[in-house]
Amino acid sequence: MAEIISGKVLAARIKAQAAQQAAKLREKGISVRLAVIIVGENPASKAYVRGKAKDCAECGILSDVLELPQSITESELLGKIEQLNQDDRVHGILVQLPLPPQIREQSVINAILPQKDVDGFTDINTGRLISGEECFLPCTPAGCIEMLKSTGMQIAGKDAVVIGRSNIVGKPAALMLCAENATVTLCHSHTENLKEKCAAADILIAAVGKAGFVTGDMIKPGAVVIDVGINRTADGTLCGDVVFDEAEPKASYITPVPGGVGLMTRAMLMMNTVRAARNQAQGRGDGEKR
Ligand code: NAD
Repeated sequence: MAEIISGKVLAARIKAQAAQQAAKLREKGISVRLAVIIVGENPASKAYVRGKAKDCAECGILSDVLELPQSITESELLGKIEQLNQDDRVHGILVQLPLPPQIREQSVINAILPQKDVDGFTDINTGRLISGEECFLPCTPAGCIEMLKSTGMQIAGKDAVVIGRSNIVGKPAALMLCAENATVTLCHSHTENLKEKCAAADILIAAVGKAGFVTGDMIKPGAVVIDVGINRTADGTLCGDVVFDEAEPKASYITPVPGGVGLMTRAMLMMNTVRAARNQAQGRGDGEKR
């Protein structure tokens, strides 16, 4: 039987640290502030943004939510980002994805100053991650690494498999595991012999977006399983990519959905925002040493 890695407990701890650091900055006259841009009326995006504003409030971080119309042009959106870049009171800027089709997402993301890019999605921060330089780490994979570390396991030397190669989860997760000296296999929709590869993994991170994708036969006995997936079953129940009841008896540690990686993503955003404020107060232009 696996031990459950509780996102609830870990995220609460991280948010408490963020709150403490935000309070310290407040004593020095710095009110940590996050600006969140949301375009259009996507209900899931709206719910995510509400969650982020709530987290900010809990951590003593000010948050400004800019609600922009679905019809906004790319240049208008770039103008808003430029205003926030120039505003010294704003330490972190986040653009909630997805954006409407008339807007090129990466152009918009790259308009955010790297030192305010608390999502860690700009090309500059991605490049720094690849080079092993100081950077802002994307929140979801950073949360996965925190969860792995919380088990006390030694990541170095372990065989890690990441399923999914998106820019926001799979690829950075693979890079971060590599930086922790794991031997990483990055699997995706074209991977051959996926089951065998997963079944040989000491660390398995699933970021596919398909309920029931990772079955018990894909789990190496004693593996640590991190389930990033957020899916809804036909009856509306929230679930991950991993068949929990099959994986749990074989794994040594496993994350639940809900109550797992999702909460960590939110907590890591708070940490990145406080870090951005601290760096800016020190006149530094980048993230903190990883
Ligand atoms: P995505 O759709 O961008 O990427 C999915 C990846 O899965 C792709 O790289 C694709 O190659 C791979 N894939 C698809 N079918 C496959 C198959 N049959 N075999 C192997 N690989 C396959 O998704 P994403 O944005 O990376 O998100 C993945 C999941 O994680 C989604 O469920 C999403 O909701 C969830 N997510 C959760 C959090 C969180 O905070 N917990 C954050 C971001 C995303």
